[in-house]
Amino acid sequence: MDTSSVDVAVVGTLNMDVIVQVTRMPEVGETVLGQSVSERPGGKGANQALAAAGLASTMLVGVVGRDDAGDRLLAVQDAGGVDTVYVSRVDEASGQAIIEVDDAGDNRIVVLVGANANLSTAHVEHALDAALPRVVLTQLESPSEVTAAVAAWCSRRSRRLLLNPSPVAELPGAVLAAADPLVVNEHEARFYASDDTDDPVAVAHALLEVATSAVITLGADGVVVAADGAVARIDVARVRAVDTTGAGDVFAGVLAAHLAHDSGLVEAAEQAAAAATAHVARRPPAVE
Ligand code: ATP
Repeated sequence: MDTSSVDVAVVGTLNMDVIVQVTRMPEVGETVLGQSVSERPGGKGANQALAAAGLASTMLVGVVGRDDAGDRLLAVQDAGGVDTVYVSRVDEASGQAIIEVDDAGDNRIVVLVGANANLSTAHVEHALDAALPRVVLTQLESPSEVTAAVAAWCSRRSRRLLLNPSPVAELPGAVLAAADPLVVNEHEARFYASDDTDDPVAVAHALLEVATSAVITLGADGVVVAADGAVARIDVARVRAVDTTGAGDVFAGVLAAHLAHDSGLVEAAEQAAAAATAHVARRPPAVE
């Protein structure tokens, strides 16, 4: 009997994003004048949990500081319907991300992990044991031992692991092998496939050598899904990209929600791509 009480558990970071709008990115050593600055709650874990929560019951496992940013990060999750009972608080500054966005909608990001560094394997295992989620979604902004523990927990409990290995880093073979799917952009896909070709279908086949299944997002060029030895391509609608920040997180969260509801991988990826494409076409409101 399936005793799951939660559809999706997201294990990951909560950060306060500081967004600087620039006409164009500075070159190395160059100074440019910014157009505006605003704050917005973010962090890959937090973003992905909010995206999933619109579609499936979702909990977030993470750590914030006992500071004003931590209060606001938790309030946004609560308002979005995410269960935050396993987001703990520590006497350290909440995580922060400095994001530059240019007029083309491209971004560059520096993350300061802060309180997120305190996420422990014991806390994560306790949360997962208590909630028994159907699927678990995690990224690589948390301590590496946490990622390994999440993968081991999913294998032990026969729960589906969605691994979004961002920012890209070397991973133990067992962690990659547990990913079903590995959710990667083009850059990450080439890293894990050890394949420098420009052919995403070839890269997808190579990813099946290391992960159980794989989904490669290609920005405006759509998505490639690889599972059971087969590779499928999904096109996305042509839109004017206003801000691509967090597109990958919307994709991963929506994908997790649909997989938790037993959609097939291609169908879930189609839904995720539609949501992510809608996301890049609009400019989210800044938080005062
Ligand atoms: P980010 O790191 O900026 O969050 P990413 O590099 O992880 O994103 P992308 O492949 O750029 O991920 O985008 C994820 C999804 O968002 C794509 O599969 C697509 O559905 C949508 N998307 C991103 N950019 C565009 C675009 N320019 N036009 C249409 N859809 C887009």
